[in-house]
Amino acid sequence: MAKRIAPGSHVFFSPEMAEEVQERLRLSNALQQALKNEELALHFQPQVSLNGHGVTGVEALLRWQPPGQPPIPPGHFIPVAEETSLICDIGNWVLARACERLQHWHRHGSGPERLSVNISARHFHSPDFTTRLETLLLQFPACRHRLTLEVTESVILENLTESRTRMARLKELGLGLSIDDFGTGYSSFAYLKELPVDELKLDRAFIRHVDTAPRDRAIIACILALARELNMTVVAEGVETEAQRDQLQRLGCPAFQGFLMARPMPEQALLEWLSGTR
Ligand code: C2E
Ligand code: MG
Ligand code: MG
Ligand code: MG
Repeated sequence: MAKRIAPGSHVFFSPEMAEEVQERLRLSNALQQALKNEELALHFQPQVSLNGHGVTGVEALLRWQPPGQPPIPPGHFIPVAEETSLICDIGNWVLARACERLQHWHRHGSGPERLSVNISARHFHSPDFTTRLETLLLQFPACRHRLTLEVTESVILENLTESRTRMARLKELGLGLSIDDFGTGYSSFAYLKELPVDELKLDRAFIRHVDTAPRDRAIIACILALARELNMTVVAEGVETEAQRDQLQRLGCPAFQGFLMARPMPEQALLEWLSGTR
């Protein structure tokens, strides 16, 4: 987090800055403990198909539940974890947990057919990322063809050459690849043609005003056409209202995820929710 400073100028650390550094350090230490003390949990948010009936998949979303305190949302602690290799430990925990549950559901004929997990840049580019996944897939073979990895554009573009090799290997392993928060990062889509991507997740920023803003609709229609040509599926993120869903349906968006359909929920609630839709 070093700030760029003009040569010869003085650097002042205000009490606020010192406090912030302290707070991040405290959070990072607490998170390390939380990982050991099993205070982390996965919640699950369903994705439904165009007609609103079929469940196309479920996204795993991390929650930190310190005992006797309100849960801490990932937006608060993931960025802190991403500053160090702690994100790799957390990401490996998430992957192991996701695979274990997916295998369990498969054995019991319950749960969703597909599960998506979010992968941070440092974790994705860590040297043992693919070998760890290979090991997990040997241990939990049902996850082959059922697990999707969500990465953002910035993860890929951080190192396009390496990402291409890595993604090809992950495809060989039978994993699905999805681009999260699509459309917010970069104006160039050129990188898409080079990568074995299965799915684009349309960022909530486009969905929010889809029912009132023709320009947002134009962008969505364009992304949908692009995805069709490139043989990728699209999931609209953050669908909160009927009006938004109706517009997206009219535009031909194949799948939705958002509070309108279901909020992220603990496993037991997910299984009940799923049995309600079957
Ligand atoms: P994301 O992957 O884009 O996940 C979607 C976020 O949007 C989730 O927030 C979800 O609860 C929220 N959401 C879903 N539907 C709606 C809706 O209709 N309206 C609104 N306002 N929000 C909706 P959450 O769970 O707080 O996660 C935030 C971000 O934290 C995720 O964004 C993802 O980038 C990151 N994250 C979550 N779990 C993990 C994880 O296991 N590993 C990593 N590396 N990152 C994670
Ligand atoms: Mg995601
Ligand atoms: Mg997203
Ligand atoms: Mg996001």
